[in-house]
Amino acid sequence: MILETCVLPIEYDEKTKEKAKRIKKVLEKNPDFFRVFLKGDKISLIDENSTIYIEKGQSILKYLDGISPKYATGFLKDKYVDNPEEVLFYWTSRFYEIGIYKNKENKLRKLCGICDYFHTNEDYEGLYNYLHASEEEQQEIEEDVFIWLEKTYRYHLINYLLTEQLPFLQNNLFSPFERDIEPGILDILELSQNVLDSLVSLDELEEITYPMSRQETIMLFREFLIDIDPTLELLYKGIYMELNGDLITSARSKKAQSIKIIQETPDSPMKTETNQKKPVVFVPMKNTLEDVFSLTHEFFHYIEEEGEVFPKYNPQCEIATIFFEGILSDYLIKRGYPKEEVEKANRDRKISTLAYAQELNEYVLLLYSIINNVAVRPAIEFDSLSEEEKEEVEEMTPFMQEQYIDSICDEQNIDLIDNYYKIIEAFCYVYGYYHSDIALRKQREGEDMIPKMIDLAKNVNARLPKDALRMAGLIPKEQEYRKMITNDSKN
Ligand SMILES: [Zn+2]
Repeated sequence: MILETCVLPIEYDEKTKEKAKRIKKVLEKNPDFFRVFLKGDKISLIDENSTIYIEKGQSILKYLDGISPKYATGFLKDKYVDNPEEVLFYWTSRFYEIGIYKNKENKLRKLCGICDYFHTNEDYEGLYNYLHASEEEQQEIEEDVFIWLEKTYRYHLINYLLTEQLPFLQNNLFSPFERDIEPGILDILELSQNVLDSLVSLDELEEITYPMSRQETIMLFREFLIDIDPTLELLYKGIYMELNGDLITSARSKKAQSIKIIQETPDSPMKTETNQKKPVVFVPMKNTLEDVFSLTHEFFHYIEEEGEVFPKYNPQCEIATIFFEGILSDYLIKRGYPKEEVEKANRDRKISTLAYAQELNEYVLLLYSIINNVAVRPAIEFDSLSEEEKEEVEEMTPFMQEQYIDSICDEQNIDLIDNYYKIIEAFCYVYGYYHSDIALRKQREGEDMIPKMIDLAKNVNARLPKDALRMAGLIPKEQEYRKMITNDSKN
């Protein structure tokens, strides 16, 4: 007996009648799909020699050409992908070559993206061709798939990435304020706004060229330590750091070669640790006056003692480090080094802080909508732009506006996938700059802040943020800071 369907006729007998009806139902739900993937002129439930012979207990999906039953199952559902953000996360990482490794789940995510693209566009012929194409042809098709996925799920992804980060941020970033997340976010917005306002007019970044050998840098650094700490405790620590081999000045040195993060970013000064968890300072020497600034900054990270309160990502750890860059500037000018070159270092810090503050401002506005259960979408992206950017966007054609706003979302997605600590990192420097700026102003007005800041650096991980700021005489008073920066712009 033959049961006609809109795909292929089904041959059956009395015993297989029910099964034939079930198969007809499956075929007719997705006829276009089965027309492409079932190769044969009939389906038989009784003829063993038929190309599509379905034995007892077997499924029609076993006979699809080039696609496994598991993946084909997706086409029987209305929506192919359950977690589109995870799929786009994978595809974005893959296209921008951000630390993605091959594993079983990623293989599935890759195929999910491909199937979702063809499924949504109802292009089964396209899927069939893709599955039967050469590797090179497949790569070309995958580029179109990525463009489509990015367009379709970019806002899914940003919402996912921000939501995923919230618990992490709450533990590591909002705790300095020891409050709920919402007032914490508002504090951060105010902080980044204050810093943005204090840094409005800045000249271009200029490279420091004043030459200085490694030996001179280290001597100058020692003299600076003596100058700021007559007890010589810091000098001893500085000498200990060198003698103990904890100061690395080249990424090619033996010790540096065993430290992954140095190999990955061989131009960035940092305090990190060896595989044996021993602290080390990495200052890649440029043989200019810049080296003594980098060395000073990282040294004040080096003297931080491990503590109970903040085992990691302590936002307060950038206060003393940035403060002593300022103190070093004053010292160098006093010693007769060219003022112009010294000021380049200060400007460099300000320019990078400004960039961090802008970034922080944008991300925190997005987080603010997330915690208020408002998903990030183009209108919110537009709101988080600066006034100048808004003006620029308003002059664009509607098509260009849409493209521009979407590109911001894509960039943020890439940023957040690439660096999970992005928001924390920006926060640490903005927070550090803000408080060090207050401390520097006090110092220059005659208050001796140096011993307090040495003490803050040493105990930064062992004290609660509130106590640390209080002991350093840095309880922030917004209006006071406002007054300081308004005076700046008058002068
Ligand atoms: Zn630092």
